[in-house]
Amino acid sequence: MRAFLVRLPSGCRYWTVLDETFRPHPEVDEFLLHVRLGRDGAESTTQSYAISLALFLQWCASIGKDWRDAGPYLGRFVYWLQHYRRDPTGPSATAVRGPRRVNSIMAAVRSFLRHAVACGQLSKDALTVLYESLEMLRPEIEFEQVARQHRFRSRHRLSEPAPVTDNASDDEVAALLGAARHARDRFIVTAMWRMGLRRGELLGLRGSDIHFLPNSSVLGCGFGGAHLHVVRRDNPNQASAKSRRSRVVPADWFTVQTYDQYVAERAFLDPDHRSDFVVVNLFTTPVGVPMRPGGLNELLHRLSGRAELPRQILPHMLRHSFATSVAAAGGTADELRELLGHAWISSSQVYLHPSPDRLRGAVDRVPSPRPGQPWTDQ
Ligand SMILES: [Zn+2]
Repeated sequence: MRAFLVRLPSGCRYWTVLDETFRPHPEVDEFLLHVRLGRDGAESTTQSYAISLALFLQWCASIGKDWRDAGPYLGRFVYWLQHYRRDPTGPSATAVRGPRRVNSIMAAVRSFLRHAVACGQLSKDALTVLYESLEMLRPEIEFEQVARQHRFRSRHRLSEPAPVTDNASDDEVAALLGAARHARDRFIVTAMWRMGLRRGELLGLRGSDIHFLPNSSVLGCGFGGAHLHVVRRDNPNQASAKSRRSRVVPADWFTVQTYDQYVAERAFLDPDHRSDFVVVNLFTTPVGVPMRPGGLNELLHRLSGRAELPRQILPHMLRHSFATSVAAAGGTADELRELLGHAWISSSQVYLHPSPDRLRGAVDRVPSPRPGQPWTDQ
């Protein structure tokens, strides 16, 4: 069982699970199509689900169970995920997948099994092995209410270590900018560092998304000041915004200046190679096509090496750096959530851990005992 990319006649792509003879697994294929079309999920979401479900089906086969009957044994699946590689080489003494990865795979399996219940492929009793609280439900509760049981606690969930945000430091960013030989590369670094854009969001930007004007009303946009719009689309370079909800991200003068320099650099592009995409190949062939997500990582790898940094800077480190800077400057969880395009506010709260200086300041703001009070006389 492996995950494969499928292109529909309309050009829309999604990922599915194929067996050794390249045939899709019917129920899984229907579920992944539902995620892509019925739920308007991103192509990358179906990719993640397909990889998880391929592992699930592989494990079911290894224990000789049909996936419909595997519910009571999912605890073993959690262990299998932690200690077995995809290729059957026997158990590993050290974990091959961490708690976060295992929980992500289990979330995909639960989603698939819930869909199977909704479609009548599986008895709704199957949900009781997935969630701890379902046995508390009264029989008269309608299925629709059961289907909204995200709030129930999953039975199969490993405790995850506290999230660590690995920021690029200001010195590292300055070194990257200094090592960049082209205005385009300085804009790429700056857009992630000063606006917190994800890699897919940056590479999916079109010229019409950039509103770097004091007033964009002539463009039919009422958002004041320089900003850009993050919009999810299906792009030929496989760059995609994660969230289906569009958002606006304000730009500061430094980002606007860097963009203007890039526009001037790009003006020399042959008219045949013009593109509506903002970030395109300028110095490698094919010229003018939107940059691939892997190409952006390669660029940061080259810049990190040229700047002689002791570690390679990855796109998400620049985004973390932005979020941490906003939090340090007093940004609140709801502001961070909107700026970063998080689905859940808990994702934004990891940036709000107070620094030692803020903790010291919080204590210093408490009034000190005044002379003459009983406890200061001793
Ligand atoms: Zn706008």
